[in-house]
Amino acid sequence: MSENKVAIITGGSRGIGRACAIELAKAGYDVAISYAGNEEAANNTVKELETNGVKAKSYKFDVANKEACAKAADEILKDFGRIDVLLNNAGITRDGLFMRMSAENWEAVINTNLNSAFYMTNPIIKTMVKQRSGCIVNMSSISGIMGNPGQANYSTAKAGLIGFTKSLAKELGSRNIRVNAIAPGFIQTDMTKDLDTEKITEHIPLKRLGLPEDIAKTVKFLAEDAPYITGQIIGVDGGLVI
Ligand code: NAP
Repeated sequence: MSENKVAIITGGSRGIGRACAIELAKAGYDVAISYAGNEEAANNTVKELETNGVKAKSYKFDVANKEACAKAADEILKDFGRIDVLLNNAGITRDGLFMRMSAENWEAVINTNLNSAFYMTNPIIKTMVKQRSGCIVNMSSISGIMGNPGQANYSTAKAGLIGFTKSLAKELGSRNIRVNAIAPGFIQTDMTKDLDTEKITEHIPLKRLGLPEDIAKTVKFLAEDAPYITGQIIGVDGGLVI
């Protein structure tokens, strides 16, 4: 069993998840990251995490698959022995105007961004309840708060995570398990690399896109320095939603 605290980060191999994994490893956490298929990125992140002297391991499975999540959660719990932080972060976009949106693109986004949070949290929550402690962070989005044309599927999934966060916070508070969500604005990752950043920046009070590290610092804050914060949706968006 790990002597360090343990964090599980879905989609921890690239982008925001990778930055969160590094931030928690720097804080002394052993880290399990999941990824979908990009093995090179996952191996690279594990190596980077290990430079902090912590245990790190990657797990390849589809977060949109209930059985795969249950199996992986079981394996991770066996490998690490405890769980302090669960970051439900893996996500995808399949943008398109609603009139032309296929059921396939609707379902892919709902399964990967929203149902995945149920699939991962469900097998892990029992361990947190037994431990009488835990911190769950769900990666929502400003799209889940404001809506966004061309993102009916994504906005629905991210709004769903907000309801999930608030309900779980109320259910699990008495077990000393805190559940919060982060609503990032536009963050520089592969997911946003094709956007017109100049146009977007005009509308951001802080006049820049966010960095994955901006989100990672918030995750570390929620994990380490926020014992009386639960059920909150923390906007990390440069002031875009005010
Ligand atoms: P990213 O750079 O595209 O990275 C996505 C990560 O999720 C990768 O590790 C990827 O693994 C993994 N992943 C994707 N689909 C998966 C699946 N079906 N099963 C398991 N893992 C899967 O994305 P990001 O920009 O860091 O976004 C991370 C989260 O933040 C997402 O939930 C996203 O919706 C949310 N968010 C992002 C922004 C933004 O501006 N970037 C804004 C608001 C919210 P592989 O490397 O193997 O593909």
